[in-house]
Amino acid sequence: MPVDTLLFQDEDTGTPVGRLPSWRVLIADDETDVHESTVFALRGLEILGRPVSFLHAYSAAEARQLLIDNDDVAVILLDVVMERVDAGLELVRVIREELRLTDLRIVLRTGQPGYAPEMDVVRDYDINDYKAKADLTQARLYTTLTAAIRSYNQLHRIAASRRGLDLIVRGSAELMAERGLAEFAAGVITQINALLGLPPAGLIVATDPPDARQTSTQPTVVAAAGAFEGLASQPLDAIADAQAREMLRSCLAGCHSAFSDDRIVLCLGAGQGTVMAVYVDGVDPLDDATRALVEVFCSNVSACLANLDLFGRLKSAAYADTLLSLPNRARLVQEIDRRRARGEADDTLLLLLNLDHFSETNEALGHQYGDEILRAVSARLVGHFEAPVMVARIHGDTFALLGPVDALDIETVSQLFRVPFPVEDGEQMVTATFGGLMLREIEGGGSEAVKNASIALKRAKATRRGGLARYDRRMGEVVRARVDMVRALRAALPGDDLFLCFQPQVRLDNGRIIGAEALLRWRGPEGELIPPDRFIPVAEHSGLIVDIGRRTLRAACACQVAVVAAGFPGFRMAVNISLAQFRHPGFLGDLRDAIKESGIRPGQLELEITESMAMLEPDYVSEVIRTIKRMGVSVAVDDFGTGFSSLAYLQRLDVDRLKIDRGFTAALARSVSDGSIVHTIIQLARNLDLTVIAEGVETVEQAKLLTSMGCREAQGFLIARPMPRDDLTRWLMERRETGWPVVA
Ligand code: C2E
Ligand code: CA
Ligand code: CA
Repeated sequence: MPVDTLLFQDEDTGTPVGRLPSWRVLIADDETDVHESTVFALRGLEILGRPVSFLHAYSAAEARQLLIDNDDVAVILLDVVMERVDAGLELVRVIREELRLTDLRIVLRTGQPGYAPEMDVVRDYDINDYKAKADLTQARLYTTLTAAIRSYNQLHRIAASRRGLDLIVRGSAELMAERGLAEFAAGVITQINALLGLPPAGLIVATDPPDARQTSTQPTVVAAAGAFEGLASQPLDAIADAQAREMLRSCLAGCHSAFSDDRIVLCLGAGQGTVMAVYVDGVDPLDDATRALVEVFCSNVSACLANLDLFGRLKSAAYADTLLSLPNRARLVQEIDRRRARGEADDTLLLLLNLDHFSETNEALGHQYGDEILRAVSARLVGHFEAPVMVARIHGDTFALLGPVDALDIETVSQLFRVPFPVEDGEQMVTATFGGLMLREIEGGGSEAVKNASIALKRAKATRRGGLARYDRRMGEVVRARVDMVRALRAALPGDDLFLCFQPQVRLDNGRIIGAEALLRWRGPEGELIPPDRFIPVAEHSGLIVDIGRRTLRAACACQVAVVAAGFPGFRMAVNISLAQFRHPGFLGDLRDAIKESGIRPGQLELEITESMAMLEPDYVSEVIRTIKRMGVSVAVDDFGTGFSSLAYLQRLDVDRLKIDRGFTAALARSVSDGSIVHTIIQLARNLDLTVIAEGVETVEQAKLLTSMGCREAQGFLIARPMPRDDLTRWLMERRETGWPVVA
């Protein structure tokens, strides 16, 4: 992601600009009166300490354009009936499906009571609120808007922190490449602000490594966001704020962090390599816990920087293509694995692209000419796509594009080859053939994805040079498939096609079994096993998850009781709880019933909630957790590490255990930065007095690394795959006899 997407773009709103930009609210209504009365009712209003500014649209078409032009709209107050009776509802669909604005909160308003949208629409399109205009008194409007903005802010912060972590991880891997340092630094800014609960704003200034220091006269700004935009790549002296300049300079000189009233400056990196100083202002005084978090975070980023200075060169040689400085096949495979592990596979497309007649051209006009063509193609692809799309070259004249399917629309990609490429002093037409697949279509890892995509490419080459393989036919079917799936799931519910498997969890130091996690399995209508990552989101969306979850909970408790009866008294059972389930008013009752019916000891039941869930509705979630804990049941935070910023908040939530996301475990030995993130998590957990369990442990090497970092519990294929209930009991018996020395 280019650094400048971190910037807040408004501040041109006419409202006095304070430290924080205003919330933008779009009023879409064909009646001028409504615009005026809304603005009047909300004049001078501040929400979460920030003013509100308005955009005005008088038709759905106008609103759509405004949303395209302004990517920071928090809430739309949307009239249902405008140029057509359903113009508003159609716009809702456009917002969610076409523009993919998932954070934007929608408040529907209607003058005609007859035009109420169906409840399905409200749920499926995540509509915040629905009001008749007559009901919108000034006070109501105020509360409605406050609730919507609060919710937008939370969604937005989660997204920002995820982006921050992603940037750090990616940036560190590419630190030696030209863009690497800037991305890494932008990630650090986002991340630190997320820890502090602020929008990304601040500066990072870096010195050169010592071997280059003689030639460069002064430190440069490597990343700038918020009010500092425009300073990137400038020398330190270009910073207008004298106090900021001074703080940065003394931080770099002595490599120490400093905290003043509302400004902080943090030192990253020590002594030998690149030293960076991060400057953030407009900070509330930090409490001790937050300050400790920030410090731990910095020391780990420093370690990461130091190592990268050393290993970067080696690494970029292994992962980058030397001719074009593009990521190579190995790096692509790694990135596919990473995105899959993060659960991004669902809408990610891998598109391979091979130049037509390249070898003939190469032979006829010489290798130098061939290289020029490759450079021109590479430049055009890189210039056109931005993160999260990755452009790689996997070999010779085959390039790869990896990214969200929407960004890689085949028409757009083909378009790039309709204009000739500048080669030597002239121009050259180059056409390409495509082959691709959606990552969710493959079972194995990244290298299998690349292999399968190559097969599609070969097929396309053989049959229709200059065309593309048929991967894209399915995209339109996604929606229909979803509806079919809900139907099939509902049908499966009463039978035993939905069942649980159990995956053991162990202590790393002595191999003792501590319990298991219950994982759902669905044998679909054709007898095939459908992975939970596919059907659980659908079940959540349709509300079926509540029923499914209730059964899961009961079945898991029953299994736990059976295992205890088989002679494993301390055995604990972990059950995944999804957001929709957790939110459901009957949830606590269901939990109580499950405990009572099975006779499980509550202390041996653990509920896993995901980190993003814990962030979404802090007050509500912490209230429910408190009740759960009063019942004696423990709580683990799943997929930990994918939304770092919640750490300070987690401290307040009374959870017992963090589960390190399997994406981090998988990357542990591969990359210094990933290892360092795991290390950070473990250290932080220790500070917060939480147990840590690593999931997805597949190799002895990972287990050893984790042990050395102080992680004591693990779950993963190394120990066992998830297995049906009967196998679990058998497995436990066998283990008891043989002992379990996995990590020496
Ligand atoms: P999760 O809670 O993060 O579950 C761990 C997933 O990692 C499981 O995938 C498990 O089979 C897999 N796994 C375990 N060890 C390894 C390993 O060593 N390497 C690798 N590569 N993977 C490993 P599964 O069973 O496909 O579940 C996927 C997700 O579906 C779960 O992620 C969870 O979010 C959701 N899920 C599963 N069962 C339930 C359920 O009963 N209720 C709810 N709400 N969600 C569930
Ligand atoms: Ca889990
Ligand atoms: Ca997990």
